[in-house]
Amino acid sequence: MKLLRTVEEVRQWRAEMRSIGRRVGFVPTMGALHAGHRSLIDAARSGNDAVAVSIFVNPTQFGPQEDFDRYPRPLEADLALCREAGVEAVFHPDVSVVYPPGFCTWVEVRGPLSESFEGAIRPGHFRGVATIVLKLFEIVQPDSAYFGQKDAQQACLIRRMIGDLNLPVELFVCPTVREPDGLALSSRNVYLSPEQRRKAPVLYQALKRAEAAVLQGETRAEVVHRLMVETVATVKEAQLDYAAAVAPNTFLPVETIEDDVLLLIAARFGNTRLIDNLPVVRPRNA
Ligand code: AMP
Repeated sequence: MKLLRTVEEVRQWRAEMRSIGRRVGFVPTMGALHAGHRSLIDAARSGNDAVAVSIFVNPTQFGPQEDFDRYPRPLEADLALCREAGVEAVFHPDVSVVYPPGFCTWVEVRGPLSESFEGAIRPGHFRGVATIVLKLFEIVQPDSAYFGQKDAQQACLIRRMIGDLNLPVELFVCPTVREPDGLALSSRNVYLSPEQRRKAPVLYQALKRAEAAVLQGETRAEVVHRLMVETVATVKEAQLDYAAAVAPNTFLPVETIEDDVLLLIAARFGNTRLIDNLPVVRPRNA
């Protein structure tokens, strides 16, 4: 496995892959890799001849009060996971490589996709995400890229950007990997105290309760919303940021659930924000 630290090194590796006709799958990450990341790597592995992973804690997607400095960076363990998973190349640049002095070009996906939910709570977050992902696509030039459903709004925004900018990258969105008690794996779960960790599955429980209601025919988004709010309210450690039913491709809230819907939830446990979501496929009438 190659550890690449500069843009030139990645370009050289990519040129080698191209010269021997290898299809490259790409998994962008911020490191602190877990089984969720591993599932993306495995998907990339099975659909391509070579896999590249980036490990880069991207400062421009963190707000000034957020956890950029304390974000976990266990590089050796991350490299071991990549090696074990059969990754060919890891791109792990310094911040100055990605954002050299004078950097001033940004990618902005406008509208509800970047301004609602995570975008409303984290102003500028999706500008940072779109900018780093476009840069990484330009540097790595993958045939396909793998993102997690766990960050549904991010995946949706990247899909939009790929379409709007005619990027020659095929996007795959992989299912959320969870702990046995339903908590979605996240690099931020390590921040939770033992008590918060015990209570954190309430987010998944709220989503599942809401899903059950929709599958039983509930169409009123207001009722579905209330179910999620009430479920989270049973846990005093959790402060709800939002719970909503949205259209999966636009993130516009729905009032009447007549079609497939995406349930969103986000809450704070102390200083730790957790997000989760559940796509609900409504049974079709025969
Ligand atoms: P991150 O390192 O948090 O930026 O995540 C890198 C990629 O892994 C993103 O596409 C995430 O959506 C994805 N990811 C994170 N957690 C999970 C999970 N539990 N299951 C599946 N994919 C995930």
